[in-house]
Amino acid sequence: MFNEDDLIQLSALQHLVFCERQCALIHIEQLWSENLFTAEGRIMHDKVDTANKESRRNVRIEYGVPMRSLRLGLIGKADVVEFHKHGDMWIPFPVEYKRGKPKMDDCDKVQLCAQAICLEEMLNIEIREGALFYGQTRRREDVVFDKTLRMETEDTAKKVHELIESGITPRAEYSKKCKLCSLLNICLPKANSKASSYLAKAMEE
Ligand code: SF4
Repeated sequence: MFNEDDLIQLSALQHLVFCERQCALIHIEQLWSENLFTAEGRIMHDKVDTANKESRRNVRIEYGVPMRSLRLGLIGKADVVEFHKHGDMWIPFPVEYKRGKPKMDDCDKVQLCAQAICLEEMLNIEIREGALFYGQTRRREDVVFDKTLRMETEDTAKKVHELIESGITPRAEYSKKCKLCSLLNICLPKANSKASSYLAKAMEE
């Protein structure tokens, strides 16, 4: 169990799955740079995160819901939590809004699953599903919190804590995803990987 003072931002899990260096630059070095993608994403989040409520017959909707897990050491906020009526119970169903389209990796699913784990711990309840809404495709994708995704989420949370505790930012390695990265101009992956290889070679010699 973690103390309240040792909790890390839930979004760090998504950053770590995307790129460990990005996670370290944001959560260790406290660097952030807004680009077109993050600006659009922020505007989209601001629109949903209006801290209000809606309700329909069998669904109640809460926006900007704060949450935490002492077991995983996470704190954050969900864009939307729907509460679906099952008999006498209202079961939480987290929904995360993303500006782009579904990703090749599990970074968004891991972030959503971490939200579910936080809610489960806070409400002492089991949450089986949530959803991701993508602005580019205007589609909502249901996500099942199965054993595999839960293990990946717990493993990612552990790695984020280890990375932040180490205080060491991994070296840059240029890949296709760098073009989508908000920190491209701060990270300078091409120049940095060349410089690291040069220094490693010089030290070997
Ligand atoms: S530019 Fe590439 S290597 Fe650098 S933080 Fe972003 S994704 Fe990672």
